[in-house]
Amino acid sequence: MAGGNAIRGTRVGAGPMGESERGESAPRRRVSYWCANGHESKPSFALDAEEPESWDCPRCGLPGGRDEQAPPAAPRNEPYKTHLAYVKERRSDEDGEAILAEALEKLRARREL
Ligand SMILES: [Zn+2]
Repeated sequence: MAGGNAIRGTRVGAGPMGESERGESAPRRRVSYWCANGHESKPSFALDAEEPESWDCPRCGLPGGRDEQAPPAAPRNEPYKTHLAYVKERRSDEDGEAILAEALEKLRARREL
């Protein structure tokens, strides 16, 4: 283990590289939205479509706004959603353990035969 193989200069959250504007069949325009965490998302819309006031951030799920300087505040009155997500996470974790335990049991049963 030599070490010293540090990754330097990697920008976290730099976004996809090489956004090339290729000639698409339908003309589209990109609209930038910023969430409260400073994530920028650039969904594209058809030229004649009206862009929505807000756009949910694909990274953190917070609503994003058109104004980078004043992104919409994170909704504080939804603890239920967060809690539910937490419970779901826990549940899938427990499911995973149960599946593992079952598999181990089958393995052991097979060995006893
Ligand atoms: Zn975000």
